[in-house]
Amino acid sequence: LSPLAQAAAEEVTAKWRGTSALGGKTKNYIGGEFVESKADKWLEVRDPVSIPNHRQLRPETTEAEFKAAVDAASQAFKTWSTTSIMRRQRVMFDLQHLIRQHSQDIAKSIVLEQGKTFADAQGDVGRGLQVVETATAITSTLLGDKLEVASDMDTYSRRLPLGVTAAITPFNFPAMIVLWSAALATVTGNTLIVKPSERDPGATMIIAELCERAGLPPGVFNVVHGSAPTVNRICDDPAIKAISFVGGDKAGKHIYDRATPLGKRVQANLGAKNHAVIMPDANKNLTLNAVAGAAFGAAGQRCMALSVAVFVGTAREWIPELIERAKALKVSGGFEEHTDIGPVISHQAKERIEGFIASVEEEGGKILLDGRGVKVPEYPHGNFVGPTVVEAVTTMKAYQNEIFGPVLTIVSADTLDDAIEIINANRYGNGASIFTNSGATARKFETLADPGQIGINVAVPVPLPMFNWSGNKGSFKGDIPFYGKSGLDFYTARKTTTALWPAADAVGNRASVHMPQ
Ligand code: NAD
Repeated sequence: LSPLAQAAAEEVTAKWRGTSALGGKTKNYIGGEFVESKADKWLEVRDPVSIPNHRQLRPETTEAEFKAAVDAASQAFKTWSTTSIMRRQRVMFDLQHLIRQHSQDIAKSIVLEQGKTFADAQGDVGRGLQVVETATAITSTLLGDKLEVASDMDTYSRRLPLGVTAAITPFNFPAMIVLWSAALATVTGNTLIVKPSERDPGATMIIAELCERAGLPPGVFNVVHGSAPTVNRICDDPAIKAISFVGGDKAGKHIYDRATPLGKRVQANLGAKNHAVIMPDANKNLTLNAVAGAAFGAAGQRCMALSVAVFVGTAREWIPELIERAKALKVSGGFEEHTDIGPVISHQAKERIEGFIASVEEEGGKILLDGRGVKVPEYPHGNFVGPTVVEAVTTMKAYQNEIFGPVLTIVSADTLDDAIEIINANRYGNGASIFTNSGATARKFETLADPGQIGINVAVPVPLPMFNWSGNKGSFKGDIPFYGKSGLDFYTARKTTTALWPAADAVGNRASVHMPQ
């Protein structure tokens, strides 16, 4: 490890029981205990910038261990679901305080395992923290409905927890996405089993310890590690009532198709291809900075990364300046000051990204800025890809696929209508942004463009947690989106009671067989 990473790894490992940043085996967290797995299969993971022999091992959780996690969560549900809502709210208050207090440690763990820059990792924690903060309002947001439907009859509707729930999370936001589920599943009275990405579970392990300190009873929040076999157990176990998945299309479709026929609720946020439409009347300086930041930030490994820039009309003249801004971004390790772009997650990811860059030329497009072969002397083994800008048409592989790397694909359109047509023909629907100074243009765009999250002069329109995540088309499977009001809907079932309290002296004549109205 580099000296900076070594110091961070020592600090994180010394402070947090469940982490394994210095290398070695990562524990499961079951029923309030950090336990070493007896697995005979271990997933070997190398951090994205380190010397080649630094590795961490995640267990493929055994069937017995998985069963123990489900049993712990099922037992805990009995008491947690009947714990008063005020108490559950108080745990959220304490949790948000603890996360804030220890956010730097979580961020360090993220940089060590995932590679993003320290500032960006703090944003990852911060966006998750906002979900916990919003969850503290549960005593208002979970209020039910009541109506006096007749002088002696009331109907009221409550939202009750489902039981044991599960979250299967991706590598790219190791804190934020775990907290989407950790906060909302538990504050509504469910228990949760998290299967974090095998690449970077350290943040989840710190969150587990913080949940414990905040007062979540043993078994309410559990962590099991593994890959497809463990995920399949989550899909199949009848005690698990709902699954929140965030990740790639293949795994998400598999989980949705396997779990929903068994009667489970599944919400699955999938891949994306987010377009920025750049109109000639936009504020050039702010727009180019915003587009470069959102295309290359987190090395392009955000599901809301702007991966396509559609220059409309004369806005094309700004392309050389966009390239200059991309070139100015510094590629290095996430702990280095002034780093803008860290490594991509794995050697395989780097090869895949470079393959897409090569395909542009093979298919007749242009590589305007080539990030392949970027040299970072301090980290010769890192999985680095420099900022890359390619010009393509929409039939090319680089346009058709989610590259998930620091690659911006430029396509051109003569008019706003053409740009909207391109976006709406794309199979994904996570986000799209427009840069313009015209209110009429912006209104037309937000009305006609399909994707579920629209930015107007905003490059990364990720909704704050009082709103729903609203990706659509190929970017989502399920019916009930993540967080916001629908997040509470996902983790609760409605129960509606109709109560008749006739006056003590009320008299009945005979049994009525008609449908009561
Ligand atoms: P991934 O699909 O490889 O992994 C996600 C989770 O699924 C992990 O926990 C992994 O262990 C598990 N998994 C992987 N393959 C599996 C299989 N064959 N069977 C069962 N489980 C499997 O995704 P990733 O590479 O970690 O994350 C990147 C992807 O996530 C990108 O496509 C990105 O767009 C997407 N993502 C989407 C959102 C969103 O909100 N739409 C947010 C973040 C990431």
